[in-house]
Amino acid sequence: MSRREEVLAEMGLSPIWKLRTQMKEAPLTGWIELKRAVPACTACGLHKSRTQTVFGVGDERADWLLVGEAPGAEEDRLGDPFVGQAGKLLDNMLAAIGLARDENVYICNVLKCRPPGNRNPEPDEVAKCTPFLLRQIELIEPRLIVAMGRFAAQTLLNTDASIASLRGRVHQYAARPLIVTYHPAYLLRNLPDKAKAWEDLVFARKTMAAL
Ligand code: URA
Repeated sequence: MSRREEVLAEMGLSPIWKLRTQMKEAPLTGWIELKRAVPACTACGLHKSRTQTVFGVGDERADWLLVGEAPGAEEDRLGDPFVGQAGKLLDNMLAAIGLARDENVYICNVLKCRPPGNRNPEPDEVAKCTPFLLRQIELIEPRLIVAMGRFAAQTLLNTDASIASLRGRVHQYAARPLIVTYHPAYLLRNLPDKAKAWEDLVFARKTMAAL
């Protein structure tokens, strides 16, 4: 034991001192720490091309949590999730089941930074960013999670199954019900599947009502 370690042990600080120096990043304890950690994050290459991080928006104690994929160009510019074309569709879909983005709803993404050119997230980007999402879920404690699109569903359910095979059932994430639906941006390109997304939202609303 070095002299420094002896002194710390004498003061009863030794285990704490060891723990803190071993920690590479600040712990994501509460909203304040999380909201500082996300914009400061340089864990993957996306920090180099982002305009800003996109943390999430809505009621921090919401019953409903909607999770998308990653910010697009508009989100990267404005700092809020789902503010582009896909966001308009999402707002309309929410309104159709009596919800609004700031009322009992929280919206965020798997990735907090925009992948350049709106390419798909890379596995290592998802792996680095997921702890932020998981902490958001722990803090919000939503009663129901709606995973929109492949990346949200596969990340939260730890599966590589397709959206088509995951729809129409209640899954569980950390003992919370989770329902899978199509991503709004996909629906903009595949209009016939809008009806299926509508079914999913009605199913989600029924599931919530029965909780
Ligand atoms: N697509 C997403 O998945 N998230 C957004 O915030 C915008 C588009």
